[in-house]
Formats: sequence, structure tokens, C-alpha cells
Amino acid sequence: MGITYRIEQKRHINGAFPGPKSVELAARRTNAVALGVASAMPVYVADADGGIIVDVDGNAIIDLGSGIAVTSVGASNEKVAAAVAAQAARFTHTCFMVTPYEGYVELAEKLAEISPGTHAKKAVFFNSGSEAVENAIKVARVATGRTAVVAFDHAYHGRTNLTMGLTAKAAPYKRGFGPLASEIYRMPMSYPFREENPNISGKEAAERAILAMEKQIGGDQIAAIIIEPIQGEGGFIVPAEGFLPRLAEWAREQGIVFVADEVQAGFCRAGAWFASDIEGIVPDIITVAKGIAGGMPLSGIVGRADLLDSVHPGGLGGTYGGNPVAVAAALETIRYMEEHDLASRAREIEEQFFTRMRKLQSEVSVIGDVRGRGAMVAIELVKAGGTEPDAEITKKIAADCLAEGVLILTCGTYGNVIRLLPPLVIGDELLAEAFEVLEKAIRANV
Ligand SMILES: *Cc1c(COP(=O)(O)O)cnc(C)c1O
Repeated sequence: MGITYRIEQKRHINGAFPGPKSVELAARRTNAVALGVASAMPVYVADADGGIIVDVDGNAIIDLGSGIAVTSVGASNEKVAAAVAAQAARFTHTCFMVTPYEGYVELAEKLAEISPGTHAKKAVFFNSGSEAVENAIKVARVATGRTAVVAFDHAYHGRTNLTMGLTAKAAPYKRGFGPLASEIYRMPMSYPFREENPNISGKEAAERAILAMEKQIGGDQIAAIIIEPIQGEGGFIVPAEGFLPRLAEWAREQGIVFVADEVQAGFCRAGAWFASDIEGIVPDIITVAKGIAGGMPLSGIVGRADLLDSVHPGGLGGTYGGNPVAVAAALETIRYMEEHDLASRAREIEEQFFTRMRKLQSEVSVIGDVRGRGAMVAIELVKAGGTEPDAEITKKIAADCLAEGVLILTCGTYGNVIRLLPPLVIGDELLAEAFEVLEKAIRANV
């Protein structure tokens, strides 16, 4: 990889954990910060680089979360930090809708170049993943003149009103926040580990969803089908081979806009620029955010020029969308990913994960499934030997890892999935050490 680090890449915990400074900050937080925003870990960050986060008490923990798949190039990438500083010194904001700037245009050109398909493409930028999803739906509705939107079981598309409606899981995302948007239809996903008929092919799973769409909505009423090529919050679910290509093909036949929500899986995370590349699909629109800008808030949609241009001038935008500092960070992040071939790095991480965890799976009875792609990999935990989800043991394993100074996150509709999203710049040694801690935690809980 040829990556150098500013902070020593070494895990260590000094005494009490969380330490006294984190405990003090937690007390201030309790008084000042709304309860609705929760944190996975009780330590407060002082510094972060590569695969290490240093807290305010000097503890160094291994990061297998990347701030939820964001800091793929590291949380203080030298090149990205320099690009941010240089842009901030010139201008932090003008609003692209008032006085435009080159970086925005350059980033749109770059996304058209690296996203799947050779057709004419255009892009537009926003701030959050949810906003990108909202805008993909806006475009699809104008372009088709239709209203219905299809999302899938286990989907996660955000927390704004429309995207809450698209998200599958009620608690904690939707509970009490209604009324939600109308004209959203939910279809059965391809979830190989949890299929009633374990031999169902991807194509058959797609036909199951297509039949439901035909019967419940009608293909000619659907504006958009939105799907994560690898589901994120829903449990790192990789659909069976053939599922996505058949859905995309049917969408094309019906004049439906096929939207791939690549907010989590995109930007080398899954082992290619986009998970769609691996799944062999060319979506009409792709949503991007998270890993795109080295930690700066930026999102966007890139897709067929004819679709995006169906919206009237002034119909899309936002005060901060495509902020120049965030755009500079994105351009540098993409350059860095190219220069260091971080897509290959993600595939190396995948291989190391599977080698280790498949072996563990053969030795313990609580690992139901080991899955994922690139540096977006997961373990689904079940009651010994069966398929019944075990959220309790999942929580316990995650807590044990955190206590040892390894940050891991959980996810899944049933709360029984441990997901790993290491920064792509993490070194092999640190990664192996984190896997070791995870393995011990799993063995200690069976
Ligand atoms: C995180 C996520 C979103 C929402 O992004 P925010 O920036 O949190 O609004 C949407 N879709 C997917 C697939 C995500 O993982």
C-alpha cells in the first residue's frame, strides 16, 4: 500500500476504560446533548489516524468502524487534510447555486468516469446520504411522471421523512416519527442465509419480487426501484447471484428508474469503485456519500444524463450541496484511492477475514453465516446450531471487543450481526490483532 502513519499503529489501554476525562465528558453530555443521539462507545476522541483512534485519556483503540464506512482513507489523511486546508484558505463557501466553482464540475466529471456504464452521465451534489436518496426519488418521479417507489425488506436509506419510509426497520429509526411518506412499497429481498427454500436462485428471488410488484402496484405505476447492492444497516446482506441483474432488467423493460443506493458500499468499500461493478449491473442512478470525501460531509447522485436533465432548472439543489471544501476533500480522496489502489486493498481485507472467520465458523456453533465483500464483512450470530438470531450474544461480543480496545459495530434487522468496516488504510498487523480479539470474544461467549 505504501502508507505511512502519523500515529503509532498500536492498541493500548491505560488503566480505567473509559478513563476519567471521557467519564467527565459523558457527564457534561448528559446535561447538554439530546438523549436521542446515541454512541456505540463511551470514549471521547482526541486524535485518529490509519486504523487507530486515540481517546482523551490516551487510550489507543483499533477502529473497525471507520465512522460507519466513511474514513476509508483514514480520519486524518495527510493529503485530504492539506486539500481541505488549501481550499478553506481560498473560500469555504459561495453556494454553487449562486456563484459556481470548478471543483464541483470536476467531481461531477470524475463520478461519470468511475461509475458503471459508458453512457452519458451527469451528477449533482448534496450533504448527506439521505438527501442523495431523496433527490434520486425526485428525479425518478419527474422523469417517469409516476409516483410509486419500491424498496426492499432489510433496507436502510436514511432518517429523513421520505428515507425513513424507505428504511425497513421500525426501531429505532421510525418508531413514533410518523406519518411517513406514502406510495412506498416493500418487496421481499434475496437473503440467502434466511430463505425458506435454501436452494432458491437469485433469479427466482427476483421473480418473486417482480410478481409481487406486478400484482400489488403494476410495473407502469412504478417510478423507481431503490436497493442497496449490499445491504448495510439491514445486516450486510449480499443478495444471491442473479438477483440484481434480473431486477435491473425488469426495471428497464418497464421504464422504471433503477437506483442503486451505494452510500455505504461505494468508493472501494466493497472491493471496487462500486458494488454494482461487482454485481454486474449498470444502475440508472447511483447515490453516493459516506466514503466519498475522507470524512467531510458530501453526497450526490450520478446517473443517466437524460434522467437527471428531466428536472427543470432550480428543481434540485441546496445551500451547502457540493460545498467547495467537501468537494476538494472528495477529489483528493478519489486520487488517493486510485494511487494506493484501495479497491485491491479492500479485497485483501476480505480474503484475510474469510480465511480466519470461515475456520472459526467450522469450530463454533453460534456463527450462522459469514458474508460480505471487500472491507464490508460480517458475522451473523445464531442460537447454537440453528438459524434463530441471537442478539444477546452479539451485544456481549461487541461489548467484550470494545472493552479490549477494538471498536466493532453491530447491525441487522434482528440485531445479531457483527459488521466490520475497517479503514482501507489499516495495516495487516493491526487488522490481524483486531481479528484475534474478535475471535477470542466469540469463543468466550459460546
Ligand atoms: C448511511 C446510509 C444512508 C444515509 O446516509 P446519511 O448520510 O446518514 O443520511 C443511506 N443509504 C445507505 C445505504 C446508508 O448506508
